[in-house]
Amino acid sequence: MQTEPAHQKNLRSFLARLRSGCDMLDEIARICAEASVRHGALSVIGAVDGAAFGFYDQQAKKYLRLTRPGAYEVIVCTGTITMKDGAPFVHAHVLFGDAEGSAFGGHLMSPTIVFAAELHVSELAGPPPVRLFDDITGLYLWDR
Ligand code: ZN
Repeated sequence: MQTEPAHQKNLRSFLARLRSGCDMLDEIARICAEASVRHGALSVIGAVDGAAFGFYDQQAKKYLRLTRPGAYEVIVCTGTITMKDGAPFVHAHVLFGDAEGSAFGGHLMSPTIVFAAELHVSELAGPPPVRLFDDITGLYLWDR
């Protein structure tokens, strides 16, 4: 069911430091939960010690999980916060950079361990989209 997206004005916008040694995805989720963010957009820059990320196999309808030990820059990480199963859910994609300047990345997974990182959250007003299982893709997609 497609409906016209409602105008979504910003409520709050804030910055937060992710704690060293913590899982990046867990830290984003914790900070958003503590701030009661149910709906918004996020970005992160920083560095990690160990990266985990996924590539969605569209034929098999499952994520291939990739991990790389070692230190990497978080060149960019962008994502959304919406509702799934009644709780805030963080979906983020990340581009990592290595010491040679090469980049790689995908769907952010755990464990991706924060060395140092800065989070920007833009909270949106109005009812958040809700993630529902989609038979065609095998993914939990927004209801609008
Ligand atoms: Zn994804």
